[in-house]
Amino acid sequence: MTRLIPYGHQSIRNDDVKAVVEVLRSDFLTQGPQAKKFEDAICKYTGAKYAVVVSSGTAALHIAALAAGIKKGDEVITSPITFAASANCVLYCGGKPVFADIQPDTININPEEIKKQVTKKTRAIIPVHFAGYPCNLQEIRHIAKRYHLIVIEDACHALGAEYKSNGKWLKVGSCKHSDMTVFSFHPVKHITTGEGGAITTNSRRLYEKLKALKNHGMYKDSVTAQKGPWYYEIRELGFNYRITDFQCALGITQLNKINGFLKRRGELAGRYNRTFSDLADYVGLPHCNDKNKKHAWHLYVLRLKSKNLRQNKKRIFEKLRARNVGVQVHYIPVFYHPYHKRTLRCNAMNFPNSIRYYKEAMSIPLYECLSNTQQEKVIKTIKAVLKDSRK
Ligand SMILES: *Cc1c(COP(=O)(O)O)cnc(C)c1O
Repeated sequence: MTRLIPYGHQSIRNDDVKAVVEVLRSDFLTQGPQAKKFEDAICKYTGAKYAVVVSSGTAALHIAALAAGIKKGDEVITSPITFAASANCVLYCGGKPVFADIQPDTININPEEIKKQVTKKTRAIIPVHFAGYPCNLQEIRHIAKRYHLIVIEDACHALGAEYKSNGKWLKVGSCKHSDMTVFSFHPVKHITTGEGGAITTNSRRLYEKLKALKNHGMYKDSVTAQKGPWYYEIRELGFNYRITDFQCALGITQLNKINGFLKRRGELAGRYNRTFSDLADYVGLPHCNDKNKKHAWHLYVLRLKSKNLRQNKKRIFEKLRARNVGVQVHYIPVFYHPYHKRTLRCNAMNFPNSIRYYKEAMSIPLYECLSNTQQEKVIKTIKAVLKDSRK
C-alpha cells in the first residue's frame, strides 16, 4: 500500500525539534522571550516595522479587523475565493463582509470590482494573495485612499512573495501599500508553528492596539506603573490569542529555512508548469507571468477544461484520491456556505468568475518535502486519469 500524497505538508528538521525541546526544558512555556524574538525575525524578513504573533491566522485576522475599528454596520470588501476566515473576521466584529469578484487569470480580487462594491458603509478592504501570487496592491491602495479605507492584506498564502514598486522589490508583509498584513503558520503554509499567525504593520498605534487585543485588552505602561508594580488596566475587551514560546521557537527555526522552502516550491511548480503545458486541451495552468511579481507557490491549482473532458470533476477527484493523489479544492466560494448564504444573502450571479473558477479548480500536491519521485507519481497518475477522461 502506498500512502496518500497530501496537497500540503510541513517540513520539520532536527534543528526545529531541538529548538522546541530546549524551550520545553526552560522556565517559560509561554510569555517568555521567544515571542519577541520571532516577531523581530518576521520584521527583519518582511521589512515591516512591527510584528505581533498570535495563536492562529484567524486570530490575527480577527484582531486586525478590530484594530481597524470594524464594528456593527461597517462593510469590508474581500474575495469570495478564500478560506472563510478572511470574511468571518468581519462578522466577528459585527460587520458585513462584501464580496468583489476575482480576476479570471490571477484568481485575485479584481480592483475594478472593488470600486463597484464601495458604499458609504465601506471601511476596509481585505485582499487575499491567492496561492501566493501577489495582488495588485498599488492599485488597491489607490482605491482605498480615494474612499478612506483601511487595507488588511490576507497573506496567509504569501509569506515570501514579492512585488516590484518604483523599481524596487518589496516583500508581501512590508505593509508599504497597506495598513496591516496577516500571516498563518498552519502546517500546510510555508512555515509552521502547529497553529499560529502574525500581523505586521508600520503603525505604532496599530501595533500597540494589536498587542493589547491579543492579551485581554491589558495595558501596562508609564501611567499604570505609578500605581504600583502589580497594577495593570484592561482598557478594552480583548482575548487570549497568545502563542506559546515553544511554538515561537519553532517559528524562528522554520523562518531560518524560508529561502530553501520557497526555492523548492518554485522548482516543483516549474516542473508542473512544463509538464502540464503539454496537456493544454485538458488543464489550464496557474497564471505567473507578471515580471513585477514573484510567486510564493503556496498552492498549485490546475483548471479542468470540462469541454474536453468526458468525466466530471467529482469523478476525476474520486479517481485521483483512490490512487492516493490528495487533490483538493481551494476554495468553495464563501457565499456558497449555508451560514454565509443565510447571513449575507448575496447573489452568486454577481460573481461569474468565482463560480467558473470553482467548477474548474483542482489543487495538486505542492510542498517543500514532496520528493521528485513523489511528484513523478503525481504527474503520472494525473496524466493517466485525464487520458482516461478525455472526450
Ligand atoms: C490558512 C488561512 C487562514 C487562516 O489561518 P489559520 O492559521 O488556519 O487560522 C486565513 N486565510 C487564508 C487565505 C488562509 O489560507
